Amino acid sequence: MAVRKIAVLTSGGDAPGMNAALRAIVRIGDGFGMEIIGIRRGYSGLLARDFEPLTSQDMSDTVQKGGTILFTARCKEMMEERYQIQAAEILKEENIDALVVVGGDGSFRGAQALAAQGINVIGIPATIDLDLACTDYTIGFDTAVNTAMEAVDKVRDTSTSHERISIIEVMGRHAGYIALWCGIACGAEEILIPETYDYNDKLLIERIRERAATGKKKHIIINAEGVGQSEALAARIENATGIESRTTILGYMQRGGAPSSRDRVMASLMAQQAIEALLEGRVNRVVVYREGMVQDLAIDEALSMQKALPEKLVALTKRLVRR
Ligand code: ATP
Repeated sequence: MAVRKIAVLTSGGDAPGMNAALRAIVRIGDGFGMEIIGIRRGYSGLLARDFEPLTSQDMSDTVQKGGTILFTARCKEMMEERYQIQAAEILKEENIDALVVVGGDGSFRGAQALAAQGINVIGIPATIDLDLACTDYTIGFDTAVNTAMEAVDKVRDTSTSHERISIIEVMGRHAGYIALWCGIACGAEEILIPETYDYNDKLLIERIRERAATGKKKHIIINAEGVGQSEALAARIENATGIESRTTILGYMQRGGAPSSRDRVMASLMAQQAIEALLEGRVNRVVVYREGMVQDLAIDEALSMQKALPEKLVALTKRLVRR
């Protein structure tokens, strides 16, 4: 298959490193003589034909930038078949040989729907949540965890000084990866994740009491967004223990900022894999990082996988807390 003209979009939640991926797609594709069309605002921009040709030069000064210079959007219409057909027709009219989708699970499902309409697609995983079963790495996760870690370290200083309990809510609507990594990196006493938390505070409060009785001065509880209810939890803990309990919700700051070196390099490697796959005629694929290697998998297979709970990380969180 001759790939002469490709389109690229970023979709779903923005993730640091999306620009590094875009830059690598454009520069590597350009190196192979491809014409690259950027689509602004994800699938919404595709339906609105919001296109801009991208050159190697346009990618100057982007590798270090957070967010996405192509903008991103959530597009409800893409869930409906008639809009999927319309989007595919637009791509065919524009003579696009393949569409590169940089985003998370939902964005890949949109790509899968376009593949069913005869469009050649390839996905590059970019989401701070690391909630894709098919890959051990998603662009943006490393930066987001480091940002959260630095923020928690700062809250910890004041929390220790005031001998209070701090509940810090980090992002992760359905998956607790940011909470787990950040909690382990910050020496949190408790990490609450949507995959396992049962909303029974009794045991949690009991553990806090026991630790306080041994002279522990600070308690950091990392709570994932998917568990939520941080304010109410703080109130219950304060009532039950008599120890002042405060909540900090980190929110969108975790999405922003310059991507880490890992995110920049992984984004570039994954983009290279996408272009190579297209040149070798492998389409309807998703670039993944598995068994220590960047590789690509069939999109249908990739999206049918179920993410297992990282048991070792969960076990580790309990073993690291001082008794
Ligand atoms: P993040 O994990 O950062 O939230 P995401 O890619 O999973 O990223 P979503 O909002 O779930 O983000 O999806 C992005 C867009 O992909 C949606 O707005 C919609 O346009 C499209 N999309 C999501 N799910 C589907 C689906 N099942 N079929 C077709 N298109 C979909």
